Amino acid sequence: MSNLTQEQLAVLKKKLQHRYLELQEEIHSELGRSSDERHISLASNLKDVGDNSFVDMLMDLDVSIIERQVHEIQKVETSLKNLADLKFGDCIDCNEKIGFDRLMASPTAQRCLDCQNRHEKTYAHELNPTL
Ligand SMILES: [Zn+2]
Repeated sequence: MSNLTQEQLAVLKKKLQHRYLELQEEIHSELGRSSDERHISLASNLKDVGDNSFVDMLMDLDVSIIERQVHEIQKVETSLKNLADLKFGDCIDCNEKIGFDRLMASPTAQRCLDCQNRHEKTYAHELNPTL
């Protein structure tokens, strides 16, 4: 577990929960604008489902219009779960502390800055394979 204080964790948790609701709202209105009937009926059902099945429902659907939001809401969910499990705030690659400032800027961060840069380089490399 990171060396974050209870107060810092509480602030970050609030931030994550706020972002979760924001994303839920975005997804909801995006689905409502869709011309696909499945999306529209999903949008009207979303407010009745619990938080856990919310992401599951989205994953079951072809949701390319909201792919970015679904991806982010999953990350928020993972972070909230890690927070509850007291596994929050450590880099998943090197196990160092991610740091409160970085988490404030990006509460879903799972890597410290060094590892994130390395990760993105690797990822960018995969996206643009040399011929
Ligand atoms: Zn790291």
